[in-house]
Amino acid sequence: MTCPSVNVRDYHTMSDYYEKVKIELQQMKAPGEAAETEAAAEQQQLSPASESSVSADVSLTSRRDISRSSINERSRSKSRSKGDGHERQVNGRQVSDLTVAGIYRVSNEQNLQVKGTGKIFKAKSAANGQVESCQRQTEEKCEHQEDGSKVGKKRRPVTVDSSKAKTSLEALKLSIRQLKWKEFPIGRRTACDIYWHGVSFHDNENIVSGQVNKFPAGMIEMLRKINLSRAVRTMQELFPEEYNFYPRSWILPEEYQLFSTQVRLLKDNDSTLKPTFIVKPDNGSQGDGIYLIRDPADLRVISGSQVKQAVVQEYIQKPLLIDKLKFDIRLYVLVRSLEPLEIYIAKEGLTRFCTEPYQEPSQKNLSHVFMHLTNYSLNVHSGNFVHSDSCNTGSKRTFSSVLYRLGSKGVDIKKVWSDIIALVIKTVIALVPELKVHYQADIPPGKPGPTCFQILGFDILLMKNLKPILLEVNSNPSMRIEHEQEVSPGVFEYVPSLVDEEVKVGVIRDTLRLMDPAQRKQYGVTNLGDGSPENAIVVDAESDEKEGLADSLPSLCLKQVFPKYTKQFNYLRVVERIATIFLRFLGVKGTMRLGPTGFRTFIRNCKLSNSSFSMASADILYIDITRRCAGTLPDSREAGMGLQAFIEAFFYLAARRFKALPLREQLVSLLEVCETSLDGQGHGEKPRPHRSHTNANPASAHYSAPPTLNSPALTRRHQYHRWHQPLQPSAKGNADN
Ligand code: ADP
Repeated sequence: MTCPSVNVRDYHTMSDYYEKVKIELQQMKAPGEAAETEAAAEQQQLSPASESSVSADVSLTSRRDISRSSINERSRSKSRSKGDGHERQVNGRQVSDLTVAGIYRVSNEQNLQVKGTGKIFKAKSAANGQVESCQRQTEEKCEHQEDGSKVGKKRRPVTVDSSKAKTSLEALKLSIRQLKWKEFPIGRRTACDIYWHGVSFHDNENIVSGQVNKFPAGMIEMLRKINLSRAVRTMQELFPEEYNFYPRSWILPEEYQLFSTQVRLLKDNDSTLKPTFIVKPDNGSQGDGIYLIRDPADLRVISGSQVKQAVVQEYIQKPLLIDKLKFDIRLYVLVRSLEPLEIYIAKEGLTRFCTEPYQEPSQKNLSHVFMHLTNYSLNVHSGNFVHSDSCNTGSKRTFSSVLYRLGSKGVDIKKVWSDIIALVIKTVIALVPELKVHYQADIPPGKPGPTCFQILGFDILLMKNLKPILLEVNSNPSMRIEHEQEVSPGVFEYVPSLVDEEVKVGVIRDTLRLMDPAQRKQYGVTNLGDGSPENAIVVDAESDEKEGLADSLPSLCLKQVFPKYTKQFNYLRVVERIATIFLRFLGVKGTMRLGPTGFRTFIRNCKLSNSSFSMASADILYIDITRRCAGTLPDSREAGMGLQAFIEAFFYLAARRFKALPLREQLVSLLEVCETSLDGQGHGEKPRPHRSHTNANPASAHYSAPPTLNSPALTRRHQYHRWHQPLQPSAKGNADN
């Protein structure tokens, strides 16, 4: 069997990979006339420039054998034992040289044989080579550091507690062995350097030091469908162009009326339009409970006596197809740190294919899940699902093999990548404000606790015009590297999945490499930009080489995108600045909600009260907002003002004070007022303690009168209305692609 002829991780940089794709394409063009004709036809189909003339399909019926593979894969045993990673061996010679710049390169070929799987990795895969070679150095007497200087002492191996790794255990074990680190499968009495949790930060409550691969519970909360939609929507209000990668969404049940009205208006205006919507339960996953509708009347809002919390979303009707099948992309994103923000994207990911040829939604096919939903967990039950021993065929493939294929049709894959990178950075920027509040509540500064990092699973759909669309972000992406297979009638067994292993072991191993306590010291956060937007993300040789030099890890499969692209994206971090002010006034450690006294202190310290906005008005504002948010916002279960409510208040104050300015400038102007006032009070100054009032009812403190201000929440609802207005063009846009 041949495993992918193009594998991003075989190259030192993304650019090497593009170069390789280019060369392969050139080589293919000469002899393969048939292929050339096909490619030309499909190039025309796919080229974004000729979008209007593109047919819906990227069908490639015959695939040339392009197996100039650097990875050979032999038949794989179906009965691999759980611990087979122990049997990994490194064969072959390995001659390494230390370059002047201190980059450690593997110059000779090296084979990594996985016993039991019959799999041989030829380590042009510099990622492997580098790990092995560096590790060998540290295991023995480490002669050289990354910077080329000599050191004399032996480094103790990094310790990893894998006792809570759950379904990611297998991939974690392989990663640890490749790194020659030390695994503690049943935990350890003394602290480990790294804790790997399968599900949540709270899997082990007793960690007081080291690093753990999950952020506190806020990450799971924030990535539920409603909260993600809310966070992105706030950004869409402020930056509609920048955040148009997320389909228009309505939150149910609270926006049911709005949704119905807008769809009715849309249809009244243009009876030819037939938009389709996808309904997703808030806490659903793996396609559970998802259905398509064409009429709001078909919404199943009630389940038993309960109103279902859900998101209803515009359905992307014209996705890019391969072999007539819809597919989506699962990309792994490492949030290495929230403060300062550090984001890495894995250069390799998965593509998951539907198992029934795609047709645009019609009343007849709305219920065809194998046609419309790409979830592996659903399609695996289709008779058409193809488990493949190769990474570039079957119903689950590597992203690089799909990119390769698109590249061979003339698609500008650099552009696709840079659009995806932008989507990822913008999404994380939308999530960060809430995450910071949760983080501080769980691990307040000064309290002993681990530092956190987390791998997120981004699900992305490519539209026919190649625009990436965010479907969802998974806080707990599956890291399982086996899949269930019926080995004989009725007998199911977990068998190794080559494509999952190929992708996920790389992601975990390189995440560990980045979290290596010794490495962390070397990764200073540099080149924080000045906040001015710039046009493009440059995915080119130069930038990747520089990244390689800076990191001394040229073949890491995780590519740093932030702070690397700070300059292009920093201007989007407006809500985060509001969250910073909110955090400053929270006052009591461990809480996520601002009491009335804290809010007053905020108004006073930021010098926001004046003759037309008294402290009494501030109190009423507080009551009004917290009341209106109760029951609708994610942070409204306890009393007090959560971040979302504070943001509402901030929007209101900004609109009131800077009426004449556009929304974004209103906010930035108010932020400047606040930041200047707070700076003047010195960074160290804390708001007055307000412990006793934190959760008190403000009404009883000063006022029991009903709010009389123009409702800011209503004002914002109007903004939502305004934001929801352009449904028509957008729905058309979708239909036109
Ligand atoms: P889940 O968490 O249940 O997997 P997703 O949001 O990922 O929910 O949706 C499941 C599947 O539905 C996706 O993998 C994708 O194939 C399809 N899908 C989701 N949202 C849309 C959309 N807006 N347009 C088209 N297809 C979508």
